[in-house]
Amino acid sequence: MGEEAARAAERLDIIRASIERARRRFGPPPETVKLVAVSKTFSADAIEPFLEAGQRVFGENRVQESKAKWPALRERYADVELHLIGPLQTNKVKEAVALFDVIQTVDREKLAAALSQEMVRAGRRLPCFVEVNIGGEAQKAGIAPDEAVAFASYCRHVHGLDMVGLMCIPPDGRPPGPYFAHLAALAAEAGLPQISMGMSSDYQVAIEMGATMVRIGSALFGHRP
Ligand SMILES: *Cc1c(COP(=O)(O)O)cnc(C)c1O
Repeated sequence: MGEEAARAAERLDIIRASIERARRRFGPPPETVKLVAVSKTFSADAIEPFLEAGQRVFGENRVQESKAKWPALRERYADVELHLIGPLQTNKVKEAVALFDVIQTVDREKLAAALSQEMVRAGRRLPCFVEVNIGGEAQKAGIAPDEAVAFASYCRHVHGLDMVGLMCIPPDGRPPGPYFAHLAALAAEAGLPQISMGMSSDYQVAIEMGATMVRIGSALFGHRP
């Protein structure tokens, strides 16, 4: 292992140990908290040490950027699992379905319909999350909390999407715990097993509130340019 991969392994170990401590406090059962390494804005050269160190699950927020970085990396690391965690325009659905393995940001009927159509066409049925605007913020994407359960059911029953969970980004500058607890309650109500919440600054709280997937960028890769 090279020096950079050794440093990446060290950071991964620190985060994984911290995930495990949070899980032991109140969190979900063992083996259920998945670490999504958020590599948006970082180059393939910056990502590679993390692949060398054994990380396989990554998150990106832009289709074009991912298309430029990941096909070459995948040639060397075929078992990568790539999550789309940013907004998806319907005119990018075809590229997204070809490139990603999980779509975390299903947030409107038109997108659900377009994803369904393309997944059937491509023969790729990807696991999907509903993005919930858990703080009800005007500027944020996502389905309103009181519509999330019905929307997940609509995506599954009308469009046949493989709905596996809910994801959210809580409001800035407020304690995130109650928002995380709310998302976990909605996932339970919807009968969805996966709860994607928690980023570098708040993932321990998210896990204590039941997160089964955390999305961590800067704590692994450093500050984004
Ligand atoms: C950028 C991003 C993250 C990671 O944020 P950090 O604070 O760097 O850990 C997680 N989720 C989403 C949706 C993001 O856009």
